[in-house]
Amino acid sequence: MTSVTPKRHLEFYFEDGKVVFELRPVPNNSNNEPDSETAPVLYRLHPGLLVRRSELCRDLLSLPRPENAPSQIQSEGCVDSNPIIIANACTKFEMDTLLTYWYSGETDYPQTEVFLIALLKMSRLFICGDGLAFAKKELEHRALAWDPDTDEPKDPEAAAEPARGLHPALQLHLAQLYFINEWLDPAFRRLLSLSLNRLSAHQFQSLGPNGMYWLTQTKTKIAEVRATIAFTSPALIQSDDCSGTWARCRLAWEQEWAGSVRQMIHHPNQIFPLTHILTELGKVSIDNLCYHCHRDTMASLETDPLFNSEEDFVKVAIEALHGNQTDTHIRKAVCQIKTGAGLEDTQTT
Ligand SMILES: [Zn+2]
Repeated sequence: MTSVTPKRHLEFYFEDGKVVFELRPVPNNSNNEPDSETAPVLYRLHPGLLVRRSELCRDLLSLPRPENAPSQIQSEGCVDSNPIIIANACTKFEMDTLLTYWYSGETDYPQTEVFLIALLKMSRLFICGDGLAFAKKELEHRALAWDPDTDEPKDPEAAAEPARGLHPALQLHLAQLYFINEWLDPAFRRLLSLSLNRLSAHQFQSLGPNGMYWLTQTKTKIAEVRATIAFTSPALIQSDDCSGTWARCRLAWEQEWAGSVRQMIHHPNQIFPLTHILTELGKVSIDNLCYHCHRDTMASLETDPLFNSEEDFVKVAIEALHGNQTDTHIRKAVCQIKTGAGLEDTQTT
């Protein structure tokens, strides 16, 4: 193999820095990342800052160096010719993102999705609690701004980059990749509200086998239940206190179901949960249906398993997704940086 002499980083090689790292980047794994440099690069940084911001750096920099250790080990990280090597862990863009977060003020952070996603990953790898919290908070903000009707934020003025919120497919992907359990529920529910044909092949595949399985299963089960309910109107309960005539109440109920309820269930763009449709149906007054029959029927439907099955399917799916969450790959990557295990891959190429 021919070794490439690493170049000093233009921004993060500080003359008054005290510890030298050599990053051997992984190739760019995202089409969105603005930087595709793969050559090794030297960073000269301030150990006090690193130790304060990152548990991984604290571990890396506090390793005891016995007095009788070889000089190679004694001087590791002190000079360009003997840096601490970080190999195969991240791209240069991702490393620069973490350092931008550590060395700059919040107003200097790029207001981009790729910056936040890179920060999310690097905060996991370098065990930086405040970086993780910041990236999560900002991305959650963007997830809420995503609008299923237009696939754009509700307020495009508020976004500094191309007007899009965080797509739920990407949020679910990140939740699985970076072990963010609290994102599974909102991302999965938002995905369910989308027609599958609005997902690109890339978005669909990014959900992983578990995500794809539970999304398609849950959508299919829900569609079957909704078709059943839309087709057959549930029987009206005849109240003991019926204040109209029973035949008139029943006709009014069936007409309401065949008309507006069926329309709500089949609405092509606005997919209301069945429980929501029931709640709305309980609030309106239906012509020619007496209050008492209406009230008793709604009370009975609220506990009807068929009407609650939609939410049950969603809960089962989310529980299964939780069960498949693992942070083993993250812990392994952290361990590889600590031990320099990633070096084996670069040195054999
Ligand atoms: Zn009645």
